Amino acid sequence: EMMIIRKTPREIALLKEAGRIVALVHQELKKSIVSGITTKEIDKLSEKIIRQYGATPSFKGYQGFPGAVCVSINDMVIHGIPGHQKLKNGDIVSVDVGACYQGYHGDSAWTYAVGEVSDEAKRLMKVTEEALYEGLKQAKPGNHVGDISAAIENYVRKNGYTSPEGYTGHGVGTSIHEDPMVPNYGKYGHGPLLKPGMVIAVEPMVHAGKKEVKVLKDGWGVVTADHSLAAHYEHTIVITEDGYEILTKL
Ligand code: MG
Ligand code: MG
Repeated sequence: EMMIIRKTPREIALLKEAGRIVALVHQELKKSIVSGITTKEIDKLSEKIIRQYGATPSFKGYQGFPGAVCVSINDMVIHGIPGHQKLKNGDIVSVDVGACYQGYHGDSAWTYAVGEVSDEAKRLMKVTEEALYEGLKQAKPGNHVGDISAAIENYVRKNGYTSPEGYTGHGVGTSIHEDPMVPNYGKYGHGPLLKPGMVIAVEPMVHAGKKEVKVLKDGWGVVTADHSLAAHYEHTIVITEDGYEILTKL
């Protein structure tokens, strides 16, 4: 049975601090992601900042994940294990950051361009970021989770792109993944009703090509089956009395 936990003001304050720490990591990554950096260096830098602010990396050890953050290059959609691969000019790289502060989590992913990237990559990144905000426009009391999902799906489709099936946004609280699921496909007016105090991560993942994915032999990395480029943008938000507030920003 589904259980959606609405958060108290005290909990929302802690979720906001967790979100702020995640945003500080992204602020640093924006400057630090350049040609030649390895995905492991991105992981180490992220973990250092998370710990500097008294938090712990949410994903480290989560179901056995070995990294502090997920680092996914080009055709990898999500869940990339940091390693020795060096980023090069023209790559795009998605970094998914989770931080836990005093028992409460923040979760935000962003895709970065390494040096000068193709027009196709730029358009994919732009559309995916816009898809996130199209979804967030629907985040208000009285709307349904399906309104967010449908807005994302329609925007992605209208731009000629696809999203993988089976990977979704989610509630966030004392667990990094809670109810409800927030899919990137859906129907207006369907799904759980949004209420003030609900905290959810909205996270469009978008492929330039077909929607099919495969999981790498490492059991984690999810890549597009046709090796088309993929992008991923995510914010954790709280539903307020009249809309939403982003928790994972400065
Ligand atoms: Mg995430
Ligand atoms: Mg998430």
